[in-house]
Amino acid sequence: MEELIFENRKFVQNMRKNIISSFTKEYKFLSSGIIGQSVCGRSIDYIWLGNRAEANLWVAAHHGMEWITSMLVLKFLRNICEIIKKGDEFCGINLNGCFKKKGLVIIPCLNPDGVDINFQGSLAAGRYAKFIEETSHGNLISWQANARGVDLNHNYSAGWEELHKLEEKNGILKPCSTRFGGLKPISEPETKALTSFCSKNNFKLAIAFHSQGEEIYWDYGLNTPKYSENIANILALSSGYKVSKPEGLAVGGGFKDWFIENLKRPAFTIEIGEGKNPLPASCLNEIYYKIEKMLFISALI
Ligand SMILES: [Zn+2]
Repeated sequence: MEELIFENRKFVQNMRKNIISSFTKEYKFLSSGIIGQSVCGRSIDYIWLGNRAEANLWVAAHHGMEWITSMLVLKFLRNICEIIKKGDEFCGINLNGCFKKKGLVIIPCLNPDGVDINFQGSLAAGRYAKFIEETSHGNLISWQANARGVDLNHNYSAGWEELHKLEEKNGILKPCSTRFGGLKPISEPETKALTSFCSKNNFKLAIAFHSQGEEIYWDYGLNTPKYSENIANILALSSGYKVSKPEGLAVGGGFKDWFIENLKRPAFTIEIGEGKNPLPASCLNEIYYKIEKMLFISALI
């Protein structure tokens, strides 16, 4: 199978689709599907590995310029599938046996419009192209929101009102490239699709991948499970990342917060890599090998 080389290639919807279909063709034990569609009608895909009743959920690319998180989860999936196919072990663990008991569901790109705007410019936003041009002032590689200017990770219903007030205090009053949480919680097709997918499936734990900062967030309010902090510490120990608490405009409104508050199960935000967003694709291998053990643990825990 062709090696995954993302560098210098536009990581847009077609390429992501091709990767997913090549995976499901090559690895018959995978299944894939769609959780919904973005504002511009791009499909939001998932890939399912292993046990359907005992799965953890990973979500990448809530934010447009954090597309490296999509590459990371696909690279991990490819590696894990190769190990399973060959019947090999990872760190002495028989993965074939593990994924009979455990499952992993990956949504590689929750914000396909935002990612494609980063690579292809405003035209990727269809009828929102003019809005994107005017709002971004030409700085499209910093576009974080969806195609109509809502920051998906500010749009969830956990602590949304408080976050909305804070956004207003900070002068974020209308749709823009980052940190506007929408006019009401879960107003966007992307956040609607993800929350409904979670409500229909009994995921044991969720991880949202963002970039950057090499940090792990685990805490949100009274429903945070007691063992979440322990899991965060294990993840930190296995990667060298630090366990952190969010502040200011990073508190509430996020997917991790919604998952903890509504499903009362552990959820984490992991900020991968270090540097200035968008982290270049050339950083991918270095980031990946630093946290490969953490990825295995967070898939199987
Ligand atoms: Zn982010």
